[in-house]
Amino acid sequence: MSELAYPYEAPASQALFDRAAAVTPGGVNSPVRAFRAVGGTPRFMVSGKGPYLTDADGREYVDLVCSWGPMILGHSHPEVIAAVQDAVARGTSFGTPGEGEVALAEEIVARVEPVEQVRLVSSGTEATMSAIRLARGFTRRSKVIKFAGCYHGHVDSLLAAAGSGVATFALPDTPGVTGAQAGDTIVLPYNDLDAVRAAFAAHPGEIACVITEASPGNMGVVPPADGFNQGLKDLCAENGALYISDEVMTGFRTSRAGWFGVDGVRPDLMTFGKVMGGGFPAAAFGGRADVMAHLAPAGPVYQAGTLSGNPVATAAGLAQLRLLDDAAYDKVDAVSAQIQGLVTEALTKEGVAHTLQNASNMFSVFFTDRPVRNYEDAKAQESFRFTAFFHSLLAGGVYLPPSSFESWFVSTAHDERAVQRIADALPAAARAAA
Ligand code: PLP
Repeated sequence: MSELAYPYEAPASQALFDRAAAVTPGGVNSPVRAFRAVGGTPRFMVSGKGPYLTDADGREYVDLVCSWGPMILGHSHPEVIAAVQDAVARGTSFGTPGEGEVALAEEIVARVEPVEQVRLVSSGTEATMSAIRLARGFTRRSKVIKFAGCYHGHVDSLLAAAGSGVATFALPDTPGVTGAQAGDTIVLPYNDLDAVRAAFAAHPGEIACVITEASPGNMGVVPPADGFNQGLKDLCAENGALYISDEVMTGFRTSRAGWFGVDGVRPDLMTFGKVMGGGFPAAAFGGRADVMAHLAPAGPVYQAGTLSGNPVATAAGLAQLRLLDDAAYDKVDAVSAQIQGLVTEALTKEGVAHTLQNASNMFSVFFTDRPVRNYEDAKAQESFRFTAFFHSLLAGGVYLPPSSFESWFVSTAHDERAVQRIADALPAAARAAA
C-alpha cells in the first residue's frame, strides 16, 4: 500500500470547497460528492467534453462517473446541446402541457413495453416516492418491501436499510425519518426469495408492493441472481402486491429498454431518471395503464410538479434517447468490456484480491475475492484498498466514483485515447491497492 494517501494537491478546488463549506452543509449539494469515503479534496469541475472532465485547477480526467450515469453519450454532445439551445430560445418553463413532454413520454412507451402510461417528474426520488404512493393507493395497503443495499433516492420511507432477515421492521436509517414513516417498510436481504416469501406469509393482505433496483448499482454492481426478479414478480402476483422495478440507474443504459430489455421480467410499475434527462432534471414513473389510471387527475392519488415535463429537460432527454440506437449500446458495451478487462488484468498482475461484477455496461470492483450477492457481502470488502486505488487513478487523470459502493459508468465517447489513458494509469493504481 502506498504511504501517500493524496498524491497531489488541487488548490483551486480546495479554495472552492472552503468557500462552499461556509454556505452549504459539508460543502456539497449531494453527500457522496464530498469525498468523505476516500478523503482528499473533491474536484470542482468546470467543463466536460466527450469522455473528459476538466477541474478548477485545469487538470483533465477521463470520466468514469458520467454524472452518476446520465451522460451515456459523453459530455456536451453536439446534438443534445443543439436541442437544448433550440428549446431555451423558445422559453424555459410554461407551466402548461407542451409537445416535448408528449414526445418524451411516447419515446419511453415505445421503448419499454410494460410502460403503457407514464408520468414525468424531475428526479428519481420523486419517481420512486410517487410510484410507492400510487401502489399504496391502488392496493389500499400500507407495507412496502425493499432490499438492504438498494437505494431509491431519499424518500423518507425508503431510507430504511437497517435490519434484515425475515419481516424485520426497519428502524429509520437517518435522523429526521420517524418510526411511523419507516415503520411500514420491510427491509430484506437482496437476492433472498425465501425472505420475501416469509414476509408475505407474515403479513397477509398488508403488502402494497415490492420495490427493487432492476439490477442494483448502489452497493456496487450486484446483479440479480437467475430467477430473482421473476420470483419477486410471481410472489407479488400471488399476493396481490405490485412489483416496482426501479430503473432510475439501469433505464436506457443497460439496453434500449433498460434492464427490462435484458431480463424481460414485466413489472407493474417502473421508475426512470438519469439517462432519460440527457443531463437535465427529468425522471418518470409508469407502467400498467389500469394502475396509472389511479393517478390525479385521472384518479384519486395525488401527484404534481411545477417543473414536471420542463421543456428544456424534455428536449435534452429526447435528443439523447433518439441517439441511443442499437449501435450506440454496442459501442458502450464494447468499451465497458475493454475497460473491465484492463482493470482485471492490472489487479491480477499485482495479486490484488478482487471481484469485478457487471450488469451489461455498468460495472464495479470489490476488493474481495468472493462473489458479492448482497449488501453484507459488499460491506465485507477491503474498502481501504479502494481508497488507495482511487487516489492513484485520480492522480493519473482518471475520475472514479469516490466510493467503493458505486457503479462505474462509461459512454459512447470513451474512445481509444481515453481507454489508453486508463490503461496507462492502472498499473500504478493496482500497485497502490496491493
Ligand atoms: N433510484 C436509483 C436506483 C438511483 O440510483 C437513484 C439515484 O442515484 C435514485 C433512485 C434517486 O434519483 P435522484 O438522485 O434523481 O433523486
